[in-house]
Amino acid sequence: PVYLDGNATTPIDPQVVQSMAAYDQRSPGNPSSAHVHGARAETALRAARGEVAQLVGADPSQVIFMSGATEANNQVFHAISSKTGKQTAKPHLITSCIEHKSVLDACCRLQETLGWDVTYLPVGSDGVVRVQALEEALRPETLLVSIMLVNNEIGTRQPVWQIGRICKDRGVLFHVDAAQAVGKVHIDMRQLQADALSVSAHKFHGPKGIGALIVSPHMEQLIRQTPLLVGGGQERGLRSGTVPVPLAVGFGRASQLAREQLLHSLADAGELGKKFFHGIKKELEQGVAEICLNGSYEERVWSNVSVRIRGIDGGELLQQILPRVSCSSSSACNGAFHGSHVLEAIGVDTSRNAVLRFGLTRMTTGAEVEIAIESVVASIKKLRQL
Ligand code: PMP
Repeated sequence: PVYLDGNATTPIDPQVVQSMAAYDQRSPGNPSSAHVHGARAETALRAARGEVAQLVGADPSQVIFMSGATEANNQVFHAISSKTGKQTAKPHLITSCIEHKSVLDACCRLQETLGWDVTYLPVGSDGVVRVQALEEALRPETLLVSIMLVNNEIGTRQPVWQIGRICKDRGVLFHVDAAQAVGKVHIDMRQLQADALSVSAHKFHGPKGIGALIVSPHMEQLIRQTPLLVGGGQERGLRSGTVPVPLAVGFGRASQLAREQLLHSLADAGELGKKFFHGIKKELEQGVAEICLNGSYEERVWSNVSVRIRGIDGGELLQQILPRVSCSSSSACNGAFHGSHVLEAIGVDTSRNAVLRFGLTRMTTGAEVEIAIESVVASIKKLRQL
C-alpha cells in the first residue's frame, strides 16, 4: 500500500541511516568516557546538538536530548510542579482541548494529585485557539501556558507567535509542542519567545526513540530542580541516562536535511496535499458523497489532510482503504477506531461521518497521490453502492 500516515511517523531518510551506520562503525564509545572513543562520541553528540539547535533557531546549550516528544512534554509539566505559586490561590495552567494526550494527561495529573486548576481552551470548528480567549483565561496565578504549534490530527496551525508575546508580557512560562511542526514550519525559538519546545525526530524522517526539549534559562532552572530522570547526570544534569549517540547522530542529520529542504519540501507537500484533497473532492462531488476538510483551510499545514465524508461508516471505509493506502481515522495514539477528542472539539460527529487522516511527507510522490485519490474514491463509491 501507499504510505500516507506521515503524522503517525515518517520513513527514515536513507541519508540519516547512512550517517548513523557510519558513526556507529567508527565509534562505539560512551560520550562520558575519558578515552578516545568517548571523546569521539562526545564530538558527534556536540555536532548533532548544533544541528538540532540550528533547525529551531536556538543555541546548542538549550537542547536537552530525550526519548521523544512524549518525554519532553511530560518533563515540562513535571518541572512546573516544583514551582508553587507565591500567592495563596491555587496554581493555574492554560492549555487547549486539542493538545496531544501527553499534554492533556499531564495536566490532568496535576489537577488530580496537586489540586491545580487547568483551563482547557476550546477551539472553533476551524480547529484554531482564539488568542482573545487565552488572554481572558490568564490569571495572576497562571504559571504556564502550553499550546501546540501544529495539531497532529487535523493539521491546523495555532497562533503561537502571538501567544508567546502575550505570555512574555505577562511573565507566564510558555511551552510549545512542536512535534508536528518541525520540518514543516519555519521555527525560530527567539522569535517564538517560548520557554520550552518539544521536538521528535521520527516526525521528520529521523530515527524513532529520540527527541529533544529546547529550553530557556528559566525552564532549565526548573528542570534542574525536578528532573524526570535522575542518575548519572547526563545532559548537564537535566536528563540522566546515556544519550543514544547513534540516534542523536541521525536526529542531527535529519535536522540538517529538514533545514536544507524546508522551503522546497513545504511547497511540494503543500501542493501535493492540496492536489490530493481537491482530487478526491472533485470526484465525489458528482453526486457520490459530501466531503469536507476538517479544520481551517488557511491556518494549516497541507501535509496533513483530514476529511469527513457524510453518511458513511468510518470503520467500514477504513477497512476498504487500508489494503491500498496506509492512513488513519484520527491519530495513532488514539487507536484506529476509537473516539477523538480533537474531532469532538471541532464538532465533527463521527457517528454520522467517516473521518480519514492522510499524512504526506517529503518523500511522498505525485504518483502515490494519484494512486491514493483513485483508491479512496473507489472505496467510497463501493460503500455507497452497497
Ligand atoms: N505531540 C504531538 C503533537 C505528536 O503528534 C506526538 C506524536 N504522535 C507526540 C507529541 C509524541 O511524540 P513521540 O512519539 O516522540 O513521543
